[in-house]
Amino acid sequence: MSHHLETLVRASRNEPIVPLPAAPMAQALVDLEAVAVNTRMLRRAAGDAGLMAVVKANGYGHGAIEVARTALANGATWLGVATTDEALALRAAGVDAPILAWLYPPDGGLADTLAARINVTASSVHALETIAATAQRHGRVAHVHLEADTGMSRGGASVSEWPQVVSAARELEKRGALRVVGLWSHLAVAEAPDDDGVNQQLRDFGEFRQSALAVGLAPEVVHIANSTAVLRLPESRFTLVRPGLALYGIEPMPGVVYGLRPAMTVSARVLRTTRVPAGTGVSYGWHHVTDRETTLAQVPLGFADGVPRAASGRAVVWVRGHRVPIVGWITMDQIVVDVGDLPVRAGESVTMFGPGDRGEPTALEWAEWADTIPSDILSGIGSRMRRTYLPPERPARLAGEI
Ligand SMILES: *Cc1c(COP(=O)(O)O)cnc(C)c1O
Repeated sequence: MSHHLETLVRASRNEPIVPLPAAPMAQALVDLEAVAVNTRMLRRAAGDAGLMAVVKANGYGHGAIEVARTALANGATWLGVATTDEALALRAAGVDAPILAWLYPPDGGLADTLAARINVTASSVHALETIAATAQRHGRVAHVHLEADTGMSRGGASVSEWPQVVSAARELEKRGALRVVGLWSHLAVAEAPDDDGVNQQLRDFGEFRQSALAVGLAPEVVHIANSTAVLRLPESRFTLVRPGLALYGIEPMPGVVYGLRPAMTVSARVLRTTRVPAGTGVSYGWHHVTDRETTLAQVPLGFADGVPRAASGRAVVWVRGHRVPIVGWITMDQIVVDVGDLPVRAGESVTMFGPGDRGEPTALEWAEWADTIPSDILSGIGSRMRRTYLPPERPARLAGEI
């Protein structure tokens, strides 16, 4: 019976109407208390530096707005996103904290962004002039973070471009068109054992910073540290750190446990089970054929929801306390799970991944099965998936911990 119908029937019988528990077909359950705990841990690790919570790509799939609010309530002082559209969506939701966006179209189009007091990145004289022109046209002062390339070879001004970039920035600052609020770069090799690479990047960043100060720039924040760097490299913290993955509870250093708490559990309900004989082909192309009589369960999660097709033939899910294999190709909307002789029935919950403490697979295991990294798994959780939030616990209880 539908929820609506049930409510009407109860109302007509004069019974008290109690909300029925929602039982979505598939959901990503996000534990905001885990985000809160991870944020406080990162804040402690950051020492005197501020904490920019990176909530790009819909908060690595967790929901940018909910994660942003939780992080800000637990010690984050800045938010970082990739695109200016992501930044505008946070402002539209009423998030008032300082936000930095590092990607926008090459011809600018930044009027709304600057009007919303969003900090933007610049790594060329052209970008600075575009930003300054937009700001002046609208009677604003743009807030800019200059990006230096210390080795990603992606964004950021090179060593040879940097002198012109900082001089142009200083000139435009004197004219009142913009303010250089920050200097930043991104680490290409934060993971051990490439300490030489990291140390080189940090030394170079220090030099970029010196030459910016030498032309009279006085940035409030200087930042380069991603999750791994915040936890592992005190010398990378400067005045602000910029972790993403660790906020969501994924250990960023392979093989090292910092005690982060994974925030997301993806699950779905079995739609149907069938008992099949040995020799039954499963899913497209019959790449899997059952080798015994068994029970197959149909589960409404597919690659459009973020179950990576590349994990076909390797991945397992968790049902009734057991790990059971996904068989045949993962399809766009569904998987088939071989539950053997477990008495699994329609409606039961199947977990794709979670924190792992009950034995369920983790995002890290999924990354291994799909030959990728956990950020790819988390940010790939599709827009169709319903997100459900466990609220952070009351701040009063936590005040002592902060
Ligand atoms: C994604 C991103 C981060 C966060 O990196 P993690 O490794 O997830 O901590 C920080 N800075 C920039 C520029 C990024 O693109």
